[in-house]
Amino acid sequence: MASPVTPQFTGARRRLLDELRAKGISDLAVLRALDLTPRHQFVPTGVRHRAYEDAPLPIGSGQTISQPFVHAMYLQTLKLEGGEKVLEVGTGSGYQTVLLAHLCREVYSIERIRPLLETARDAITACGVTNVSLLCGDGTYGWPEFAPFDAILVGAGAPSVPQPLVAQLAMGGRLIVPIGGRDDQRLVEFTRTETGTERRDLSPVRFVPLVGEHGWDES
Ligand code: SAM
Repeated sequence: MASPVTPQFTGARRRLLDELRAKGISDLAVLRALDLTPRHQFVPTGVRHRAYEDAPLPIGSGQTISQPFVHAMYLQTLKLEGGEKVLEVGTGSGYQTVLLAHLCREVYSIERIRPLLETARDAITACGVTNVSLLCGDGTYGWPEFAPFDAILVGAGAPSVPQPLVAQLAMGGRLIVPIGGRDDQRLVEFTRTETGTERRDLSPVRFVPLVGEHGWDES
């Protein structure tokens, strides 16, 4: 997979990697994916100078690109080996979509806000990855045509686990989803087993709401 590794922002990107290592990100494949992916191409020009801060940034339509540490933590938790089919709910900027494209075989990503999806599509294409499929719609329904998925990542906070996503997990597959209130949640990992699901609570997080049939109401 090609990726435009331009010298621009290389120093800032390397400093961000050092910061993430110091915060506990040690998975070499995840660090490589972060090194290959130009985060400055996934944020609006007005905040581009802040692209390599370990912070969420506004991307328009009232949404944010998540903090790099949070992306890295999701990916380090998943321990992808390269052959997986992964569903992402909440494409947003498309940055995590490209990180995933470097770490697994196929990425399916759903975003409900069309202008964000189209901007993300351009940024993803510019990175040269070719294993990503995008859909505009309510990701709380999942993407049944391409199920089952080895992993499902939800990038917005849900009031409870969207059951269609659990149903679309392969046996042994994992779903990572922030669950809780509209503003504060806990990151939770569910693993599909022969008898149901196993739950593991990870860390406290703050995400924008997952809006949809199996999420929050629009208002
Ligand atoms: N990983 C993305 C990034 O860093 O750019 C996360 C972006 S933001 C934190 C979460 C995104 O989820 C927003 O773009 C929002 O529009 C989207 N979203 C919320 N509810 C959704 C739903 N039901 N289906 C698909 N996307 C949804």
